[in-house]
Amino acid sequence: MYLSKVKSGIKEFNSVLGLVKSYLPESLCYLCQQPASSPVCEICEQDCLFFNTPVVPYNLLHWPPIEKGVVSGSYKSLFACGYYQWPLDQLIKQFKSGHPQLTNTLADWFVRYALPPGTCLPDCILPVPTSRWRFARRRYHQTQLLANAIARQLSLPVYPDWATRSSFQRKQQSLGRQARLNNLNQAYTIQRRCLPRHVAILDDVVTTGATAATLSTLLSQTYPGINIELWAIAVTPVQIDAGAMVSGEVRQRRLQSV
Ligand SMILES: [Zn+2]
Repeated sequence: MYLSKVKSGIKEFNSVLGLVKSYLPESLCYLCQQPASSPVCEICEQDCLFFNTPVVPYNLLHWPPIEKGVVSGSYKSLFACGYYQWPLDQLIKQFKSGHPQLTNTLADWFVRYALPPGTCLPDCILPVPTSRWRFARRRYHQTQLLANAIARQLSLPVYPDWATRSSFQRKQQSLGRQARLNNLNQAYTIQRRCLPRHVAILDDVVTTGATAATLSTLLSQTYPGINIELWAIAVTPVQIDAGAMVSGEVRQRRLQSV
């Protein structure tokens, strides 16, 4: 008797909870904190700043302010959504610090705003590896999550184990340019396995490009003649380059007219 009362009580509670949930918004927008059905609402996406492509070339290595600001390596192209400035920097910081629910939004933006329509896609995505120590601290590998989400949209395979990163490494900040590159060279190991001839290395943010330069050079030493692209959500600007940016609203209108 008592047990059946408890059971019916639980059933009633669950039905009320379901009713309450149906009236609540699924989530709040990460930027404006208004109710939204996705992590970033449509209005905020339209207000976000993205690269002004095709005025700014999709391959950002053809845009001098960026080409001069990144360490050159064996990668032949660089595709990204925008500069690492507000609000993209805010979203990426949150994504990396305990909010993996932003994965699909950032992946979706990369596919829509960073890649040229009808581009010849690489044969696979190679997420920049993280160290075990960082993985243990963060509890997820953010670049791999991004790679998986982008790969789902583009029907591409992801090779998460193509390279490894050592947990023990000298701090980059205290080192000069050449010492930094040597330090990174020692940090990464390419795991020899059969890779396709055309690949995309994916990182969340390209700051100096030193990581991509190191990994792409190691890759081309292991696989001579390999065609390497660099994909990222954002690029850190070396100097103010306001002319390179345009609102999401403008980018959406351009995409609709293609
Ligand atoms: Zn919003």
